[in-house]
Amino acid sequence: MKFSAHEWRGHFPLLANHPRLHYLDNAATGQLCAAAFDAVTHHELTQRANVLRGTYRLAEQADEAYEKARRQAAAYLNAAGVDEVVFTSGTTAAINLVAHAFGDGLKPGDEVALSLAEHHSNFVPWQMLRERCGIVLRFIPLSADGRLDLSRLDAAITPRCRLVAVTHASNVTGAVTDLAPIAAAARAAGARLLVDGAQRVQHGPVDVQALGADFYAFSGHKVFAPTGVGVLWGRGEALAALPPFLGGGGMIGRVTAAATTYAAPPRRFEAGTPPIAQAIGLGAALDWLRALVWEELNAHSARLAQRLIGELAALPGLTFLGPRDLRARLPIVAFNLAGIHPHDLCQVLDAHHVAVRGGHHCAQPLMDCFGVEGAVRASLAPYNTGADIDALLEGLRDAQRKLK
Ligand code: PMP
Repeated sequence: MKFSAHEWRGHFPLLANHPRLHYLDNAATGQLCAAAFDAVTHHELTQRANVLRGTYRLAEQADEAYEKARRQAAAYLNAAGVDEVVFTSGTTAAINLVAHAFGDGLKPGDEVALSLAEHHSNFVPWQMLRERCGIVLRFIPLSADGRLDLSRLDAAITPRCRLVAVTHASNVTGAVTDLAPIAAAARAAGARLLVDGAQRVQHGPVDVQALGADFYAFSGHKVFAPTGVGVLWGRGEALAALPPFLGGGGMIGRVTAAATTYAAPPRRFEAGTPPIAQAIGLGAALDWLRALVWEELNAHSARLAQRLIGELAALPGLTFLGPRDLRARLPIVAFNLAGIHPHDLCQVLDAHHVAVRGGHHCAQPLMDCFGVEGAVRASLAPYNTGADIDALLEGLRDAQRKLK
């Protein structure tokens, strides 16, 4: 059956409740899909209990549902094993987990390589690690259109590099990182590779084994699932080599007054009561997404983004951040209109029922590379239609009339 954006919208309860809304802030948060909504409701109404503690039937049902979610996440990522999936509260928590568990084993002078296109979630934890452990940060430079400059990897990934942490796709420009040369350079240096998948996961299943990564992080709320849950995938051997980050219930082998032994992954990294209902919702969303024909969905979003880019280019005073062509790009379009602050633009657009984000998008080093303070960003999901693009363009013309 051919993909229809109008039909797809029917899977998102909020969109049905807001028929006039033009939601174009999907890079910030995707709308909750019915599959996730139903799974969370079912869990809360029929099997709510804590996990990995109870021996009564209700608790066993909750255990099974939680572990099913782990299998569903493993399948979406094509992980080699279910135990490679650690539930966290989101991408930020997953990256901080690695920055602590892996980072605390580093010595002064060891190096971590990042790019200048990273979200603050994949930037600040490494700067904090530098303060704690005296590591050296090296940066993969960017080309003029904001892509990672792969011809200059040697300068950033040296023989002292212990970990490379890069985004799979930029939340500002949508540029998808070509990970193969980075994985090869990391391997040659004997360094681990952490990939921030927060933006990429919304656009179809990922094959972490093919990527050559050691760690992959993403958030549930960007894949049409609940907030408050995310995944850290770690290659079995890479996770097994890490000490725990947070201590508490659920992550132990045996605790005595003298010492504690720790559980094997993934439990070792899931101290305390995990986000149970959220993980169950995430699993259901990923299962639903995995069954879709992504070539059709992505072709639809790319057509809309291409049209948007074409029509934006005709507006006087418009500048884009990032590559204009949609090769190796997600449907994320960031731009500025000369003389109008991004926040003012967003307010006018809101009056047109258009929801877009304006600001630095938690990527200030990237904004510095572009020489701007911020930008407006429209980010598309397959439920967007031509009417959303029309409303955005009409709102921008209105803003130009009102604010110039
Ligand atoms: N990395 C990227 C590329 C992102 O776009 C985001 C969310 N904007 C994050 C990390 C952080 O995700 P979260 O806030 O869900 O932890």
